[in-house]
Amino acid sequence: MEIVRHSIGGTLTSGRGERRSDVFDPTTGRVARQVVLGTSEDVDDAVRAARAAFPKWAATTPLARARVMFRFRDLIEKHAKDLAAIITSEHGKVLSDALGEVTRGMEVVEYATAIPELLKGDFTENAGRDIDAYSMRQPLGVVAGITPFNFPVMVPLWMLPMAIASGNCFILKPSERDPSASLRIAELLREAGLPEGVFQVVHGDKVVVDAILEHPGIQAVSFVGSTPIARYIQQTGIAHGKRVQALGGAKNHALVMPDCDLDKTVDALMGAAYGSAGERCMAISVAVAVGNVADRLVQALAPRVRALKIGPGTDSESEMGPLVTGVHLDRVSGYIDAGVAEGAKLVVDGRDLKLQGYEGGFFIGGTLFDDVKPDMRIYKEEIFGPVLAVVRAPDFEQGLSLVNEHEFGNGTAIFTRDGDSARAFVSGVQAGMVGVNVPIPVPMAFHSFGGWKSSLFGDHHMHGPEGVRFFTKLKTVTSRWPTGIRAGADFVMPTLG
Ligand code: NAD
Repeated sequence: MEIVRHSIGGTLTSGRGERRSDVFDPTTGRVARQVVLGTSEDVDDAVRAARAAFPKWAATTPLARARVMFRFRDLIEKHAKDLAAIITSEHGKVLSDALGEVTRGMEVVEYATAIPELLKGDFTENAGRDIDAYSMRQPLGVVAGITPFNFPVMVPLWMLPMAIASGNCFILKPSERDPSASLRIAELLREAGLPEGVFQVVHGDKVVVDAILEHPGIQAVSFVGSTPIARYIQQTGIAHGKRVQALGGAKNHALVMPDCDLDKTVDALMGAAYGSAGERCMAISVAVAVGNVADRLVQALAPRVRALKIGPGTDSESEMGPLVTGVHLDRVSGYIDAGVAEGAKLVVDGRDLKLQGYEGGFFIGGTLFDDVKPDMRIYKEEIFGPVLAVVRAPDFEQGLSLVNEHEFGNGTAIFTRDGDSARAFVSGVQAGMVGVNVPIPVPMAFHSFGGWKSSLFGDHHMHGPEGVRFFTKLKTVTSRWPTGIRAGADFVMPTLG
């Protein structure tokens, strides 16, 4: 059995623990390999190696760090297909989607190559007479990232290029469900010239996460995952004096207005609800049909959902692959059972899909519910599967209230031809990322990614300018030289004007 190991201090190691976790091939349902589950001693080893590397790395010039990022970027491009194949083999998403994930991650590395520009501070000549003031941003030290299963390359790349280019040492705790891509990332960083100890991988579960949160040698934790864990990470990390950004779950609503271009809206909803089998934090899982568009929308969606091409992620014909694990498959089909029991109208039922030759795989068909009500569990909770709920709202205001009253506020979108409705939606909606006729408004690398409400705990969004701020601390200097020094002691509050 192949074992996925930690990468600590530049070497692959099984660490000090005995525990292992199965990693599945979601297409067949068989165990493909095992990943080691680390201990607090493994975290301590990684922190020690990171602390040893930090002073020298922090003292390199931003330009030298940018050059490592340039080489890393080229290596990602060169090996994009292998990275995508690793993602598909453990996550299950179709290869073209996995390649898209690699590209979106690479774009953050491209942004991080601008670090000499991004770290430039402000300067005020003569802030007081013969006194200058300037600010600079310095790295925090050793920082950690804890990532979810659904983007095993892109989400680590939301964090680590920004952290490392800013001069920090970074420890990654990837999802134990698809851990292999992280080691390929470690190899590419080494090949790009990153010194030992600046990037390390410690695999594991809650034991490693808790060791990271409690370790006094780690200054900041960046987390992406489900809301209950995000909340726990923020509270525990803060209690241990760390800076924390913790991105959580979602229930992204699309507001479908009666004047929308229905064909294009249906295309957009199909990709956004069923792409990656709905295992995206920016997936649309609720379509709010406003006014008389509801019947037309459901009638147009149903045959498309029935016709979804479901199969192995490696088959170029597949539009949707399997779910990540059997446990997750049971969870998603349990939600469909709950929706039926609560009285929602099941228009297309994806349960019991069996694919010939892949009977043990974690496949489920696309599912569509109509007449979903706000008090139902399938409306309130994140399902994280290929299940779209249509909720009917009589008008724009009531549709908007639904979005705003929901617990989550990650992404949302409006489909309309009317500029006034779009503008009112953009201005009034309570969500961090908003699309206008764009179903999955994931910000580009040079903007920042993050939700509102229970979709993000902390003050900083990911990557873009917010990423630089999260991984650095601000220092402001007030400086004078002999000509600026006045005689005598000052006993009053100094004023510079
Ligand atoms: P998860 O919360 O189960 O796991 C995320 C990480 O936390 C993993 O590394 C895991 O090992 C660790 N973890 C799990 N249980 C833990 C516990 N009890 N204590 C400490 N650590 C624990 O999430 P997942 O299932 O891997 O990913 C899917 C979730 O992530 C969805 O809710 C999705 O919406 C969310 N997500 C959010 C974003 C975003 O940007 N907001 C992006 C991607 C995924």
